[in-house]
Amino acid sequence: MSNADRTFVYTAQPSRVVFGRGSLGRLADEVKAVGAQKALVLCTPEQRKQAQVAADLLGPLSVGIYDGAQMHVPIESARKAREYSRSLGADCMVAIGGGSTIGLGKAIALESTVPIIAVPTTYAGSEMTPIYGITEDNVKKTGRDLRVLPKTVLYDPDLSATLPVRMSMVSGMNAIAHAAEGLYAKDGNPVMSLMAEEGIRALATGMRGVFAQAGDMQARSDCLYGAWLCGSVLGHVGMALHHKLCHTLGGTFNLPHAETHTIVLPHALAYNTQAAPEAMQRVARAIGASSAAAGLFDLAKDLGAPTALRDIGFKESDIEVALKVAMSNPYWNPEPIVEDAVRELLRNAWEGRRPSV
Ligand code: NAD
Repeated sequence: MSNADRTFVYTAQPSRVVFGRGSLGRLADEVKAVGAQKALVLCTPEQRKQAQVAADLLGPLSVGIYDGAQMHVPIESARKAREYSRSLGADCMVAIGGGSTIGLGKAIALESTVPIIAVPTTYAGSEMTPIYGITEDNVKKTGRDLRVLPKTVLYDPDLSATLPVRMSMVSGMNAIAHAAEGLYAKDGNPVMSLMAEEGIRALATGMRGVFAQAGDMQARSDCLYGAWLCGSVLGHVGMALHHKLCHTLGGTFNLPHAETHTIVLPHALAYNTQAAPEAMQRVARAIGASSAAAGLFDLAKDLGAPTALRDIGFKESDIEVALKVAMSNPYWNPEPIVEDAVRELLRNAWEGRRPSV
């Protein structure tokens, strides 16, 4: 696109980001800075230990820990957490964990408007978005509301050091997916494109480093830096075919979130290659490959991440069901959504075929 053709609208969202090793040590000051005195620490049962460290750092500023965060925020868990938070008179949520824990904080904030301080320990990016999701009767409903955007985000690479290597790889690919679709978003803008390309570059470098040595803190820091950038892109611009397909596959077949993103992304980019050449060039440049789609497939493979939906519980006979759901609501995508072409995309992703573009 030439500069003369460029038009865009960019509305920046408010956010305070504190980044760096050891930044968890600033938690108490950050709680005070949002005017809170009774912080409830949220986590999954698996991350209770990290949550306890956060609660200890808060001392009298903490009213307790709620360790009931679950994947996809089931409505019952949100109701329970809201009730618990109300009973303690909590005036702030400290969500320490991945997208599931931050999602629980958002479900509480949506009803109570208490501020969230997010302490992300994966690369999923939810902490930078005003998007929430709550699952009721097996259907995950998502929405946008500025009340759920965390007021402050503490990125401490030390906390991600315990994230298992496989989860780190798929979580990183999940983040790259936000940036890749942000590069061809209908409402994209040059600032987001800069962040997207830099975010993909940082993640690809960091993931290679973590794969080589799980405890490489420079690589962990690169990944978290990339996660911030890619999460910001997700929070500011609309997504397309890739996110729609992953939402369908996760919601209808209960496939694991980050793995699904990892497998589908190269195929969704192959689908959009003709329609979004500049975006593809930027993705390819950021990962050091000649093709965005094939390059991301190779990156996933090199990092030991899954590349076929059939390896994560998706059956061949599920393709038609997924197709029906994915085609049921029209949505914007750079390449028009055509049933036969989406069927082929799903089949390629199911088989784990390397994209040929
Ligand atoms: P997750 O939060 O479900 O975490 C997966 C598992 O890893 C959990 O058991 C968790 O406790 C554990 N874990 C997390 N960090 C760890 C660490 N450092 N060490 C050891 N264990 C750790 O996974 P996720 O991929 O971060 O989040 C997925 C969810 O987030 C999905 O429901 C997805 O829809 C949502 N999401 C939402 C947005 C948004 O903008 N609303 C964006 C991205 C993802």
